Amino acid sequence: MKEELKNEDGLTCVKCHVLLEPRKVHITYMKSTFPAVLLACPRCQEVYVPEDLAMGKMLEVEKTLEDK
Ligand SMILES: [Zn+2]
Repeated sequence: MKEELKNEDGLTCVKCHVLLEPRKVHITYMKSTFPAVLLACPRCQEVYVPEDLAMGKMLEVEKTLEDK
C-alpha cells in the first residue's frame, strides 16, 4: 500500500458532496491492524475504501481517525 495518497480522481463524499482528503486510519484485516492512509470525508469522517482494497467485507476500517 502506498504511504501517500492524493485525491487525484476528485472523489467526493456521496453524502456531503465535498472533496475527500487523505487521512491516517487503522485498517483491520484478518485480525491484524495496521496503519494506512485512505481518503476520508473531512465533514462526516466517512472513510472511503476502494473496492480492490475492501475485498468483500473482510476488511474493516476503524472509525477513529488519527489526528495528524
Ligand atoms: Zn461526508
